Amino acid sequence: MPSGICPECDGEIHVSPDVEIGDFVTCPECDVELEVIEVDPLEFEVASEEDFLDEDEEEW
Ligand SMILES: [Zn+2]
Repeated sequence: MPSGICPECDGEIHVSPDVEIGDFVTCPECDVELEVIEVDPLEFEVASEEDFLDEDEEEW
């Protein structure tokens, strides 16, 4: 079973062997929602909707 490291807490996350880029997983250690951005090697990125909202609000 493939595994990667949580960018939030450095915990180990195991995913199903058929995981694909763009899939979402939840870290069992810190409960953060993560998006799969790379599968070989396995890498995650924190999926935070608040980040996108913040960008929308930054209007000149
Ligand atoms: Zn975590």
